Amino acid sequence: MPTSPIDAEEAGAPARRLTVLSGPSGVGKSTVVKRIRADHPEVWLSVSVTTRAPRPGETDGVEYFFATAEEFDRMVAEGRMLEWAEFAGNRYGTPRAPVEERLRAGTPVLLEIDLQGARQVRTSMPDSFHVFLAPPSWEELVRRLTGRGTEPPEVVRRRLDAARTEMAAEKEFDATLVNTSVEDVRDELLALIQAPRV
Ligand code: ADP
Ligand code: 5GP
Repeated sequence: MPTSPIDAEEAGAPARRLTVLSGPSGVGKSTVVKRIRADHPEVWLSVSVTTRAPRPGETDGVEYFFATAEEFDRMVAEGRMLEWAEFAGNRYGTPRAPVEERLRAGTPVLLEIDLQGARQVRTSMPDSFHVFLAPPSWEELVRRLTGRGTEPPEVVRRRLDAARTEMAAEKEFDATLVNTSVEDVRDELLALIQAPRV
């Protein structure tokens, strides 16, 4: 039984990689991830822990594990987060154990996280492959973020401030996909996830 990606490779299975998807708030990351979850169950999507309140339609354990600040702090203190960051007033983190378990089994893993988290993963897992999701234009990003209607104007403003920093970091990523069509991005991202590791 293969016990690590290397073992899986030696056993003849294709090498799998940890893929990180990042990009400014409102660009369409959750929409793309939702589409991959529906169409490609062979890709394992990490479910993050967050201290933010659920949006209408979000289910605990599906989009996120919703936690109190105390529960989140305890996970960090116990070393149970692969990475974590504060974003626009809330904390978000990737539970470590399930990711390590899937990678050991040779399953392709996708993380949807912010720039600060992506930088931490780059350091701790240098073999990871980082994809930047970009909007067709700044105006379209603003339109999507405000059009989603899930945040009050003050939070939209904070997210757009963060978006300027995130947009400036695009060159740190291994690939950029422009989210004009969700279906196109799904297919392009899948090709990157499934590409053999070099
Ligand atoms: P993120 O997860 O990056 O914050 P969302 O997935 O919530 O962004 O998308 C923000 C808004 O943009 C949502 O209302 C979503 O329906 C819309 N959206 C996502 N992708 C596209 C696209 N390719 N074209 C038009 N609207 C999109
Ligand atoms: P939202 O509140 O819109 O769902 O997410 C806000 C931001 O937090 C997005 O940029 C999203 O990618 C990021 N995010 C979601 N989960 C995690 C995580 O586990 N770690 C980090 N660092 N960022 C995350």
